[in-house]
Amino acid sequence: MSAVRSREDFEREERERLAPFGVRSADSRGRLFPEPRHAYRTDFQRDRDRIVHSRAFRRLEYKTQVFVHHEGDHYRNRLTHTLEASQIARTIARALRLNEELAEAVVLAHDLGHTPFGHAGERVLAKLMQGDGGFDHNRQSLRVVDLLEERYAGFRGLNLSYETREGILKHGCHWEHPVAVPEPTAQPALEAQVADAADEIAYTNHDLDDGLRSKLLRREQLAEVALWRDARGPLEARLRAAPERVLRAQTIVALINRLVTDLIEASAARIEASGVDSVDAVRGTRGRLIGFSAELEKQKLELKRFLHEELYLHPEVRRVSESASGLLVDLFRAYRADPARLPGRVRAHFAGDGEARTVADYVAGMTDRFATREHAALVGARG
Ligand code: MG
Repeated sequence: MSAVRSREDFEREERERLAPFGVRSADSRGRLFPEPRHAYRTDFQRDRDRIVHSRAFRRLEYKTQVFVHHEGDHYRNRLTHTLEASQIARTIARALRLNEELAEAVVLAHDLGHTPFGHAGERVLAKLMQGDGGFDHNRQSLRVVDLLEERYAGFRGLNLSYETREGILKHGCHWEHPVAVPEPTAQPALEAQVADAADEIAYTNHDLDDGLRSKLLRREQLAEVALWRDARGPLEARLRAAPERVLRAQTIVALINRLVTDLIEASAARIEASGVDSVDAVRGTRGRLIGFSAELEKQKLELKRFLHEELYLHPEVRRVSESASGLLVDLFRAYRADPARLPGRVRAHFAGDGEARTVADYVAGMTDRFATREHAALVGARG
């Protein structure tokens, strides 16, 4: 036996290791533009690596999750959110004998299309693009990987595998997209469902953590939230002498662990009960197979409702969101009114993509700090 393991070896291992309903990289429906396969990497490893090496991925570091980055060095941004979510997705995928690398690739790409300044930015662009085909961040993530990354001579985008693109797209496609889109099925593959669940577990917990650290949330408010109470209670008894920051960290650890464990066990039971024995059978199921038990789903919704009301709608968070929204409206309008202000490499897309879409792509791709600087340069003097 050779000392070196090749892609063919990894593909063979996948056939042995993965469940029949896990996506094998050797069975991929392929890329939009056929390419020679790699000697030492499976197709999904290669997708993951292309995503990590992309410009859009590096920009995630300077995009807001909830707290804008100048508020403090320890808050999550889109990059650390993405990394936390991908770690959770790998744990779940591995435990369920799914393709860990596919789940990882989908998570690493899932927020590439996110605007600066969090969801406020997405809402603004959706409104500004109303008459021009609309805007949402899943679709934008697909635009980034299919069109906006410029790294190859033969095609636009990263030329990712069908299954990774299917996972990024999530809910099917109701809009114009210049290249063939993965065909809509009742459900995406389980790896994509895992990616969604991991995203939710990650942001719910780190937003809670950041909310408490920022003091916009107070611990006493959480007494009525069952998930928090159950995680925190035993720790308060056991870690009586520990400082609050350790207790908080341990509570978040316990919460993530509870959610991930429940998700793995409830999903495994659902998969078994469904009798699915192939990826196509998964795609045809009526409901999602990856999900929490009924009890934990209820408790998770309670925690999310709490976060929505007490954190995302907190006057301080809203104040920052509103000023960011105004800034993006100004920027979008300034470029629309005077396209000569756009860099030439951006204007080069007018003919193919249309002016409005090109401006939306450009603004959506900005980091918080680039948008702030551009705004000061273009509008600041007047405004
Ligand atoms: Mg996310």
